[in-house]
Amino acid sequence: MLPFRLAGFALLLVSGAVAAEDWGDLDARIAKALPGVIELRHQIHQHPELGNREVQTAERIARRLRELGLEVQTGVAHTGVVGILRGGKPGPVVAIRAELDALPLTEQTGLPYASSVRAKDEGGDFRTRGKEVGVMHACGHDAHMAMALGVAEVLAARRDELPGTLKLIFQPAEEGPPLGESGGAKQMIEEGVLQNPAPAVIFGIHVTAGASGGFTLSRTRTTAAADTFVARIKGRQTHAAFPWTGIDPVPVAAQTILAWQTIPSRQSNLSVLPAPVISVGRIEAGDRHNIIPAEVRLEGSVRTVSDEQREDVLQRMRRTAEKIAEASGASAEVDYLPGNYRAGYNDTALVDRLLPVLESVSTVPVKVDSGTYGADDFAEYARQIPGIFMRMGVTPKALADKPVWPTHSPGFQVDDGALAVGIRALARMTLSYMQEH
Ligand SMILES: [Zn+2]
Ligand SMILES: [Zn+2]
Repeated sequence: MLPFRLAGFALLLVSGAVAAEDWGDLDARIAKALPGVIELRHQIHQHPELGNREVQTAERIARRLRELGLEVQTGVAHTGVVGILRGGKPGPVVAIRAELDALPLTEQTGLPYASSVRAKDEGGDFRTRGKEVGVMHACGHDAHMAMALGVAEVLAARRDELPGTLKLIFQPAEEGPPLGESGGAKQMIEEGVLQNPAPAVIFGIHVTAGASGGFTLSRTRTTAAADTFVARIKGRQTHAAFPWTGIDPVPVAAQTILAWQTIPSRQSNLSVLPAPVISVGRIEAGDRHNIIPAEVRLEGSVRTVSDEQREDVLQRMRRTAEKIAEASGASAEVDYLPGNYRAGYNDTALVDRLLPVLESVSTVPVKVDSGTYGADDFAEYARQIPGIFMRMGVTPKALADKPVWPTHSPGFQVDDGALAVGIRALARMTLSYMQEH
C-alpha cells in the first residue's frame, strides 16, 4: 500500500504545485505592466487634487478600471471609486485600499512630472486656510493608486482562473475632508463599501521614506490615534506694566505646556503601553507688546495607541490645564476636535499566515515592529474586518545618502521600481489568501 500512498501524496503535491504554477507568470506580467503603471502614476502625480475634490482623479481611476473590465461604482463618499473583479472560480472577497487625495503643499522635487497645480485650501491649516496653495501628492497616494491598478491589471488578465473576487477601494479625503464636510474611510464604510460583496480581509500599503521595496509591518497595533486638541486659557486683559490688575494667561499657558509632558513621562505606565505623544503645534495670544492678553489658545496633536489611552489622556490634559489655571485665578478648557483618527490594528493571525508571502516578494528583509505614531484611517476598515496595513520604503537610490524628505514634505519622492514590489506583494497576498479558502 505504501507505494500507492506515496504516489497519491506525490500527485497531491504535483497538483498543488500546478495550481501555484498557474500564476507562475505573475512576475513576468507585472514586469510587462510596469511601464504603464509608472506612466499612470506620473500622470496622477502631475494632477493632484485635495480631499473630497478628487474629481479628475476619480474619473481617471474609473476609466482605467472599466478598460480592465471591472465593475465600477463611483461617487461613493463624495468622490470614491470601487472596482470589482469577479474571478471565474469561487472564493473569498479580498479588498485592497488606496487613497485619492493629495496635500496642500508646493512641490519642490524638480521632477519632470512635478505638480504645478494650485487650489484653494479648505482644510485645517491655519496659515493657508481659504488661500490658494500648491497641491502635491506628498503622501504617496499616487503610488498607492498606481499599485492598486497594477494589481487589477495582472489579475484581470487571468480572471477566469481567479479563485475569488477582488474589490479595489479608492477612497477620498484620507488626509481629512475640508472643514465642515464629512469624508474618508468612515463615510466609505457608512455608504456600504464593506458590503455587496463583503470583503473577508483588506490589505493596504503606505509608502514611506526608507530602503526602496523594504516592508515594515506590525503583528498587532499598527497606526496611532491622532487627535487635534484646542485649549483656551482665559485670564483678564490688562496693561503690561500692572499685571496684578488683571490675570495673565501667558505664564499659565507656559506652565500647562510643560506640565502636559509629565503625562507621558510620569503618569503613563510605560511597561504596559507605549507612551502617548502630546505636541503643541500652535500658540496664539495677544495683539500688542505691552498688553497682557485675555486669552491664550493652544492647538496641538495627541497620538495615542488605544481607545482607552485616548480618552485617558484627554481627561489628564483637562485636569492639568484646569488646575494650573485655577491656581492663578484663570480658567481653561481643553477639547479634541471631531473627525480624527482612531488607532489601527493588524490581524495577528492573518499577518502570521501571509508574512512568508511578503518575505518571498520583498527585495529587502521584512521588518516587524510594534507600530508607528503615524495615523491612517485604514484603521476604520481593519476595525470591521481583518486587515494588514504595511509600510513600504520608496526612497530613490539617488537620494539614499541625502537628508531625508519624509512623506508630507515638499521633496518627497517615490522610486518607480518599488511599485513592482508593491504590486507583487498585494497580488501574491491576494492569491495566497484566495487559494487557501
Ligand atoms: Zn498623509
Ligand atoms: Zn497617506
